[in-house]
Amino acid sequence: MSSLYARHKAVIPDWIALYYRDPIEITHGEGRHVWDADGRRYLDFFGGILTTMTAHALPEVTKAVAEQAGRIIHSSTLYLNRPMVELAERIAGLSGIPDARVFFTTSGTEANDAALLLATTYRRSNQILAMRNSYHGRSFSTIGITGNRAWSPTGLSPLQTLYVHGGVRGRGPYAGLTDERFIEACVADLEDMLGQTRSGVAALIAEPIQGVGGFTSPPDGLYAAFRRVLDRHGILWISDEVQTGWGRTGDHFWGWQAHGQAGPPDVLTFAKGIGNGMSIGGVVARAEVMNCLDANSISTFGGSPITMAAGLANLSHLLEHDLQGNARRVGGLLIERVRAAAAGVAEVREVRGRGLMIGIELTEPGTDRANPDAATAVLETARENGLLIGKGGGHNTSTLRIAPPLSLTVAEAEEGAAILEQSLRSL
Ligand code: PMP
Repeated sequence: MSSLYARHKAVIPDWIALYYRDPIEITHGEGRHVWDADGRRYLDFFGGILTTMTAHALPEVTKAVAEQAGRIIHSSTLYLNRPMVELAERIAGLSGIPDARVFFTTSGTEANDAALLLATTYRRSNQILAMRNSYHGRSFSTIGITGNRAWSPTGLSPLQTLYVHGGVRGRGPYAGLTDERFIEACVADLEDMLGQTRSGVAALIAEPIQGVGGFTSPPDGLYAAFRRVLDRHGILWISDEVQTGWGRTGDHFWGWQAHGQAGPPDVLTFAKGIGNGMSIGGVVARAEVMNCLDANSISTFGGSPITMAAGLANLSHLLEHDLQGNARRVGGLLIERVRAAAAGVAEVREVRGRGLMIGIELTEPGTDRANPDAATAVLETARENGLLIGKGGGHNTSTLRIAPPLSLTVAEAEEGAAILEQSLRSL
């Protein structure tokens, strides 16, 4: 055990789970690569979601942060803040939400917390619909809407949450249904649930593709079908775009757009890669919903000029270099290569994905039983061979998650796929 790991274990809570038998200390990064404290270089197929939607150590971001730090590092509270207004304008315009207002937080958890505050206040109800197998954060309220048991350490909650089917299609009574029948079954489940609730439900919160839940693949049109039901009841739709936003899925800038007729959601939340490692989260909502709070409130650090400077430089790079288009093109090639790499590997149940958000689900050969040991083994072998990937899925995390920075090159996609092939075949 490294001495830093021993020190970590002595002061950090036991429930902070680190990846790898011998955890990595990342010391620097560049583009799609990171280096550890021993000077080993890794191709980073997971940092795209964890840290950066563009590239590690993007020079424009470094420059913007250094310039802002040289002027002042301040909070956003009480004074006008030019980078915050500028980033809010950009995001409001991109969100698709008419008359949008943007509230910045410092994490995705806080963004969802704020979205829940808005929805419950606007609708005067603490009843929330969430999806089974969902993940929305680690605060008290967001744990209460997280259906994925592995991430929900308490059943106590300030909210009354009703869990809806739809996020995962390959299991239970819904397995094997066509897209159309699956959507019908999920809508019937939603209607049934609403018929059994006493008071008005405030909102449905959903990740268009579940991230921590294992890059699930609901059929396009599911949320459009849900929306028709929600509208009849006046229930708000919150789209958690923390993992699916900013063009990651290639075909769309936001995950909700795969469900086109659903229209923009009432509330959208974002975080993670927009900050290129800086703490940015946020909520976008129609003015009517955003301004329903009777409060004199602003987050001290949410929207601080240094994070906003990073976000602006990062977002500009993403748009100017059409990284969404790159995610579509290189992601299309990568999923083909991953499918070929996985062909004939008995533990691979499914390769699924969209753009640069690709999941490889592992089960015990010939069964539907999750195979977390196989997932851990592939993760370890890939690391030994210089590739970082992620894990996710239900209680037994057995889906490998591939989510590189959106600037991934074709050569890097080929290199990563070759390492994955070797790692899967050594199972
Ligand atoms: N929502 C989703 C969909 C997420 O994947 C995450 C983080 N994994 C969060 C919310 C919480 O974000 P944060 O870790 O920044 O609090």
